[in-house]
Amino acid sequence: MGENSGIAWTTHTWNPWIGCTKVSPGCDACYAEAYDARFGGKHWGSGAPRLRTTIQNWNKLKKWNRAARKSGVRPWVFVASLADIFDNEVDPEWRRDALAEMSECDALNFQIVTKRIGNAFKMLPSHWALSFAHCGLVATVVTQKECDRDLPKLLEIKRKYGVAWVGLSIEPQLERIIPKNGDGLDWIITAGESDQGGALGREYRVGWAFDLIAWGETHGVAIFVKQLGSFFARNANFKDRAGADPAEWWPPSLRVRQMPCGVPTTLKIA
Ligand code: SF4
Repeated sequence: MGENSGIAWTTHTWNPWIGCTKVSPGCDACYAEAYDARFGGKHWGSGAPRLRTTIQNWNKLKKWNRAARKSGVRPWVFVASLADIFDNEVDPEWRRDALAEMSECDALNFQIVTKRIGNAFKMLPSHWALSFAHCGLVATVVTQKECDRDLPKLLEIKRKYGVAWVGLSIEPQLERIIPKNGDGLDWIITAGESDQGGALGREYRVGWAFDLIAWGETHGVAIFVKQLGSFFARNANFKDRAGADPAEWWPPSLRVRQMPCGVPTTLKIA
């Protein structure tokens, strides 16, 4: 659940609950399910109850928010690494509670990552633009087909609800993906798969990252190359098993780690 995250594109991860159902080839080796199972949990799959996290965990948001106000630096907060905020099997009241907390903690830059972006149409509150200006939505897509299906929905949600910024998380990237439309898209993360959930990471090609970097330059979209994945790392004999250390081999043109353009990272201290 992470006080500070090891993920290069965020500062903290926050999970209001744990549990989910697999909905994509990107879920095949879900690390969250493996994490849950390690602690004896049974919160995965259709019909499995989700586990609301402790009040202490929920209170972390207010703690980080106070720290941000004091320091003047807005941290990034990844919601949710062990669940999906738009899971239609979770108690709607939990989602309402989580969104209320997030709305209140407006010194934090929330990165809401989902594989169910279509559900956002019915699950986002109508006052989103007013109360959630510090929150961005990120849709995970792992194939060209998923990108073609979900990017139009993401852009439509941005327009309809006035979402501050939107992104695509292409992790694990399973093939070459080129978005068909960049109008309104603010950010793309690309990453190869880690060995996780008891499975070996699937193939990732550096050319896919270069294609996205070039596409981002042309379309004015920020690109974050997170990691080359364990398949690549094994073949290249990297020390970092996820291929996430740019100091290992990465040519300078691959070391592209941009954050969504125009999102403020500092605060005025009152
Ligand atoms: S959506 Fe995320 S948390 Fe849910 S099963 Fe897929 S990979 Fe796991």
